[in-house]
Amino acid sequence: MARLSSFALHELSAKLAAGECSSVEIVNDLLDAIAERNGELHAYLWLNAEEARAAAAEADRRRAAGESPRSPLDGLPVALKDNLSARGQPCGCASRILEGYRAPYDAHVVERLRAAGAILLGRTNMDEFAMGSSTENSAYGPTRNPWDSERVPGGSSGGAAAAVAGGLALAALGSDTGGSIRQPASFCGCVGLKPTYGRVSRYGLVAYASSLDQIGPIARDTRDAARLLGIIAGRDARDSTSLDAAVPDYEAALGERLDGLRLGLPREYFGAGLDPEVERAARAAAEQCRALGAEVFEVELPHTPYAVAAYYLLATAEASANLARFDGVRYGRRVEGEDPTDLYQRTRAAGFGPEVKRRIILGAFALSHGYYDAYYLRAQKVRTLIRRDFEAAFERCDALLAPVAPTPAYRLGEKTDNPLAMYLGDILTIPVNLAGICGLSVPCGFTPGGLPIGLQIIAPALGEERALRVGHAYEQATRWMEKTSHASPSAIRGQR
Ligand code: GLN
Repeated sequence: MARLSSFALHELSAKLAAGECSSVEIVNDLLDAIAERNGELHAYLWLNAEEARAAAAEADRRRAAGESPRSPLDGLPVALKDNLSARGQPCGCASRILEGYRAPYDAHVVERLRAAGAILLGRTNMDEFAMGSSTENSAYGPTRNPWDSERVPGGSSGGAAAAVAGGLALAALGSDTGGSIRQPASFCGCVGLKPTYGRVSRYGLVAYASSLDQIGPIARDTRDAARLLGIIAGRDARDSTSLDAAVPDYEAALGERLDGLRLGLPREYFGAGLDPEVERAARAAAEQCRALGAEVFEVELPHTPYAVAAYYLLATAEASANLARFDGVRYGRRVEGEDPTDLYQRTRAAGFGPEVKRRIILGAFALSHGYYDAYYLRAQKVRTLIRRDFEAAFERCDALLAPVAPTPAYRLGEKTDNPLAMYLGDILTIPVNLAGICGLSVPCGFTPGGLPIGLQIIAPALGEERALRVGHAYEQATRWMEKTSHASPSAIRGQR
């Protein structure tokens, strides 16, 4: 019989309701799976084992007493990326500078999870301060891809995706500034959703680039992603950019067919540099959507080639300001000095890793007097052009289909000494963040070597229902997710 940790959240929710298993059994099975495999994968940085067991026992007690569930997540465990604050837990952003820091309050999304009765299982590895695409920038060592432990899981939410794909978490919350939910989901063969900017409150998320950051789910399938989004979305006065828009019933939008939908294939996203296997899988997925009733045609997003340069100026500029607060005085680690300036310098020199330092320096430079117009201001103008590209495309179609990343998961170390090569790998996810719209990653097959490939479904602002509808119909027709999360990699290689 399949172990409990191999099911989706919505399947376990049904099992709990039917009395076929208990929350304690689910949590224990996940903790067993973590004990078996986290040493190899290094997906979790910290576990909340005792509290999770106690919360599960409490959920079981409430259920036994006949109380109705607080939500469809009641009694079910979820993992958190290490940059989301949960009261009393470490929130280290995989950085030495936050060693020893414990969050004094809950992020908005964590409040929502707790109120829904969800259990916080542990904290997942990430690139330091979410800066990276492979999780190799974690100060605590990289996470490995469950499909091939010589390969990266993607990043920056690589620990979350590896945990979900490797059977160590049922679902997780991550953050996506330039692809950090969608790209690891695609490298690990799970579902990842970056909501519209403002759909989910960022209160309690450690800021990287505030005009781009968004929190979203990484899950086993689209139904679970829809369910989680329904719980975390909505207006929160503590994040002034959070949108005052009604939260729809995302699961109600899920169906089997795509009749009447117009789907665009952005020509620039299928250009030079795209791995042929990734292209083949994405085009086959587009054909599948056509077979499900959608109209599929090519569209243009002409400013795509400028997106990476604009993003790496804007994101680093914002990061240079956001990370000024880690000065050795208020949070985490401190290295004493002769005077305050010396203390700041020593603390930051010892606490930040090389990629974080590179970005703070780059961002401070881009903002500095005399260079502002040449770099920051021009990048802002490019951002507007990219947003307009999407607006024009969405006049012709309802959603876009594209690959998530130009290649499948690469080998550990392959890009670590070439930051530019690493940055260029973000070309297909960054434009969505610059435009503030939403993007969903769903599994769409495997390379001949057995590595997962992801399909990206891009929808306009607040178009999450539409993206999930497309993703769900595609997923139900192909059922790649069964192969990714419900069986072991070797079994899948055999049956592929
Ligand atoms: N890889 C991109 C970066 O390093 C995106 C990271 C993210 O979305 N947090 O900035």
